[in-house]
Amino acid sequence: MNRQKSVKDYIRTIVDFPHEGILFRDVTTLFADARGFRICVDQLLSPYAGIPIDKVVGLEARGFILGGAVAHQLTTGFVPIRKKGKLPGAVISQAYALEYGEAVMEIHDDAIRPGERVLIVDDLLATGGTASAAIELCRRLGAEVVGAAFVIDLPELGGRQVIEALGVEVHALCE
Ligand code: 5GP
Repeated sequence: MNRQKSVKDYIRTIVDFPHEGILFRDVTTLFADARGFRICVDQLLSPYAGIPIDKVVGLEARGFILGGAVAHQLTTGFVPIRKKGKLPGAVISQAYALEYGEAVMEIHDDAIRPGERVLIVDDLLATGGTASAAIELCRRLGAEVVGAAFVIDLPELGGRQVIEALGVEVHALCE
């Protein structure tokens, strides 16, 4: 039977990347396909139709690709959250736990004005550590986080519960 490919069908899995035992979900194959990228961006946006959003916040690095396209479609500004030391202007920083050690994410301290409504976008939700740090950074600048949208949710890692416990609704296109 002929059926149209879904977003999930465009994603490939790379075994043992970046370490042995890891199954890496590679979205470059989704981004490289015209129809795949189109339906992905359309589906990321769909729950937010008619909801006021001032800025889309994308998380380094694949969240930039998605967030830029989503912001263009919504006619909003785009704000990057980057790993420590990459943004040129004055920043605020937020540390979060990794499996081993910790990492730090940063946002320009003037990127969002108090009261602005933001949508957070990234490719994949695993433990929720990265997205939690992003929510914290946005809130520290006075933003209202209206949602967090991902292409992939890895449900066994519990990220959705972590983000929802912060009072932010999660939207994911596939598991
Ligand atoms: P978390 O902080 O939720 O544990 O991890 C999510 C972050 O790690 C996201 O920024 C995501 O880009 C990255 N990530 C972790 N595993 C994968 C994977 O298998 N595929 C992709 N594309 N990104 C991953």
